[in-house]
Amino acid sequence: MSKYEELHKLEEKMEKDDTLPLKKGATKLVFGTGNTEATILCIGEGPGFNEDREGIPFVGQAGKLLDKLFPLAGLTRKEVFITNIVHHRPPENRDPLPNEITAYGKYLDKIIDIIKPEMVITLGRFSMAKFLPNVFISSVHGKRYDVAWNGTNITVVPMYHPAASLRNGNVLELEKTDFVNLREILKKVQNEKTKEAESGKVETEQMNLV
Ligand code: URA
Repeated sequence: MSKYEELHKLEEKMEKDDTLPLKKGATKLVFGTGNTEATILCIGEGPGFNEDREGIPFVGQAGKLLDKLFPLAGLTRKEVFITNIVHHRPPENRDPLPNEITAYGKYLDKIIDIIKPEMVITLGRFSMAKFLPNVFISSVHGKRYDVAWNGTNITVVPMYHPAASLRNGNVLELEKTDFVNLREILKKVQNEKTKEAESGKVETEQMNLV
């Protein structure tokens, strides 16, 4: 089964799951969108008003800013897959609660398992805390962290949530710089992956010789 098919099946399962705690108050499930073969997975917080109506993440003001930030890193939205920590809109856009993060987390973990990203860009403190607990976003934003995730290594880059940048011009300047610097981090990670793949190839060739 392709990643697209696996994700589609998971989305169908999630649609039918009446135990999801925010489902009742929401209009649509916001599962995720983008390139299902992406090496970069972006994880936000939760759907807002517009996302709830359309069923697509980051289509409101924060999404419009995100679309402007991606090119600073040499990226476009089409190259990445975007999802959230919770996939139904919390009432009045309040922060997701710990039990909600856990309930949606089992689906998010499956999305991560299917996509198998080389890099996760977290947007805001809730998705950051999934990979980097007990840190402050003000100290870690824009930096690279290599995290062991279910036996594989994922590079995590925590970013400020674009909504925080819309509220505060200083945060916006920091976030712009972080996205500019992300270009260099992406290059390094890509070089490392190419080297890893090449050394794996040599080993295979040597094994074939024996
Ligand atoms: N903010 C988020 O964290 N996610 C969305 O999908 C939209 C806004």
